[in-house]
Amino acid sequence: MTGTRLDRWHGAYSRRASGMTASQIRALFAVASRPEVVSLAGGMPTLDALPLPEVAEIVRRCAADSAAEALQYGSGQGDILAREQIVDVMTTVGVTCDPDDVVVTTGSQHALDLLVRVLVDPGDVVLVETPSYVGALGVLRSYEADVRHVPVDAEGVDPVALEAVVVGERAAGRRVKALYVVPHHQNPGGTTTSARRRAALVEVCRRLEVLVVEDDPYALLGFDHDPLPAMHSLDPDGVVYLGSFSKTFAPGLRVGWAVAPPALRSKLVLAAEAAVLCPSSFSQRVVATYLATSDWRAHVKVLRSVYRERRDALVGALEQHLPDAVLTRPDGGFFTWVAMPDDLDTTAMLPRAVAARVAYVPGTAFHADGGGGAHMRLSFCFPPPERIAEGVRRLAGVVAGEREL
Ligand code: PMP
Repeated sequence: MTGTRLDRWHGAYSRRASGMTASQIRALFAVASRPEVVSLAGGMPTLDALPLPEVAEIVRRCAADSAAEALQYGSGQGDILAREQIVDVMTTVGVTCDPDDVVVTTGSQHALDLLVRVLVDPGDVVLVETPSYVGALGVLRSYEADVRHVPVDAEGVDPVALEAVVVGERAAGRRVKALYVVPHHQNPGGTTTSARRRAALVEVCRRLEVLVVEDDPYALLGFDHDPLPAMHSLDPDGVVYLGSFSKTFAPGLRVGWAVAPPALRSKLVLAAEAAVLCPSSFSQRVVATYLATSDWRAHVKVLRSVYRERRDALVGALEQHLPDAVLTRPDGGFFTWVAMPDDLDTTAMLPRAVAARVAYVPGTAFHADGGGGAHMRLSFCFPPPERIAEGVRRLAGVVAGEREL
């Protein structure tokens, strides 16, 4: 019962809001967050490796020494100190830009929301990978975009298929607004778009005049390698880059950013000012001070080894306990994408998994078209290795039970 009679205001909602529904998955997550449940579901980064005393001292200094700026309203585009530091971070993905090119946002999720707000009218087509980030699908749905999945292989989106979809959609009279991709260690697929595929996709999108949205929060979290050059570096006018400090520093600060071509950037700032006036001055000050005064690159190296060990724990346990599942072996990021044997319905199985004290996200969450029914996303970012192994053992027990049903 989704409460029409119980809600006095049920007749007052916008058409947009009626497309926003709380998923059953959210309800299960409340249960999944109980300590006895091993959650392989959420994408929460570990904070164990953060230099907490140093961060506490930065927070204290921001309040004590920079109160006039840190506790005040700021610029809608973001604080200059934060934008200067972001310019430095962008060099790690091969992008040379200027603080004026950067818009600071309340996490990269907010950047996504602003982008879709300024680009998409109801019914406009936005192309996404198969599968795609659940949070992006939520934003797209809330602005009534027509989401079309494009096939991917081990190297990323298939450029030939992409072109065919764009041509087909346009022939059917629809407007194709953007291609949304997560090119490093994709959420949920775990794959990285190769360098040559990045070039091919940028070429196709430039030729067909489709804007690329490059959402790159996991760029620095490759286990054994530095990031590939961003697609933005190949066509700064054709690719909007989204970055985040959530995975490499602290998600609770809610600081992300966009690097966009000038006219689009101005629209983003106007939309941001309408939504939030300005991003948090305090959080930006904390992030900027952290980046300017700590060895954040060393911290990222620690994170890489922590997540590598957890990836090994997850993949090793899956190979041992669920040998006939087909999985990606991510070389970075937080997630493994698993195709279940016998076409097991992962949505139907979830309540039984939670009862067995293990949680995951069913594959349908990452599809706008009902696909992914026999897939699941398993994350290895939060529980320590021994808990991950225990979680997979529990999961294997649930799968064995399903097969007997
Ligand atoms: N994009 C992707 C691909 C993500 O995985 C996430 C976090 N789950 C976000 C964006 C949002 O991150 P932020 O905390 O910066 O809003």
